[in-house]
Amino acid sequence: MGKSKTRIILIYTGGTIGMVKDFKTNSLKAFNFKNLLDRIPELQLLECDIHTVSLKKPIDSSNMNPSYWLQIAEIIESNYQKFDGFVVLHGSDTMSYTASALSFMLDNLAKPVVFTGSQLPIGDLRTDAKENLITSIQVASMQDKGKPVVKEVCLYFEYKLYRGNRTTKLNAENFQAFASLNYPDLAESGVHLKVNHEYLFKPNLRKKFKVNKVLNENIAVVKLYPGITESVLKSIFETSNLKAVIIETYGAGNCTTESWFIDILKKYIFKGVHIINITQCAGGSVMMGHYETSSLLKKIGVISGKDITTEAAVGKLMFLLGQNIPAKTFKTIYEKPLRGEMN
Ligand code: ASP
Repeated sequence: MGKSKTRIILIYTGGTIGMVKDFKTNSLKAFNFKNLLDRIPELQLLECDIHTVSLKKPIDSSNMNPSYWLQIAEIIESNYQKFDGFVVLHGSDTMSYTASALSFMLDNLAKPVVFTGSQLPIGDLRTDAKENLITSIQVASMQDKGKPVVKEVCLYFEYKLYRGNRTTKLNAENFQAFASLNYPDLAESGVHLKVNHEYLFKPNLRKKFKVNKVLNENIAVVKLYPGITESVLKSIFETSNLKAVIIETYGAGNCTTESWFIDILKKYIFKGVHIINITQCAGGSVMMGHYETSSLLKKIGVISGKDITTEAAVGKLMFLLGQNIPAKTFKTIYEKPLRGEMN
């Protein structure tokens, strides 16, 4: 008996990949998913069964929010047993945020979820969409002895497969739009698809797949800059119902040592607001206490985001706040890698 074909589901959320030019306004907007498949007859040549599902109203990913994350997670949940792999077509602007959030929402994931999109629409002569889509489907179809090779949420773009929650969109123009500066590539596509097996996430296969659906959006992200004022910082912390703040500090986690700054942080930590220190550098890690300019943060109980990206820090925070973790253990849990998102 011949080997049965792998079953892949394509989840179309929107993004440039499926956009067309509105000639009245001269801007790109999302269009019907059916047209997308008509434009890639090559998909018929792949040795897998491809099914498609689309958000009711595809979006530019700049309109992405946690309610869409939930819709994507629920599509995966309801098709989890029926399919071997999942490919999510998504705008590149916020793809790293969605891939990161999904990595936390999909608990004990044992199948591939590959995010991809493109810089040019699929109908464009010089499009990058076809290669991105075809190789993403191949990644999602990869099997070894009847079991998926990739068992995590990843992102494929311009010949590289990355761990989704390690990526950042670094370039708005180049085909190579994404980077994973703190974690090696999971695979590279050339003449062969070269998988770096040692870097793939190894989930506990005895645990049952489940979707974490509760996310708490009562957070803020603050990027430090020389000249940030006390009133700006105060107004952010005074936001009603605020549960946590991610601070993008300088370099290895450093900030001003001015007393007003530390006092605000101290006051809100005392009130139960979690504060996470991540670096605004694209690569490298927070090391609180390495410089004098970060040792006070460590002393007052700021959480170290280590080498996490902003995108993953946001997803992890909304997820953990949704888990009702006791205040005492929140710091310890946040500082632990849950899905390979930090070292
Ligand atoms: N604005 C688009 C989006 O994120 C850009 C893209 O798809 O690359 O939906």
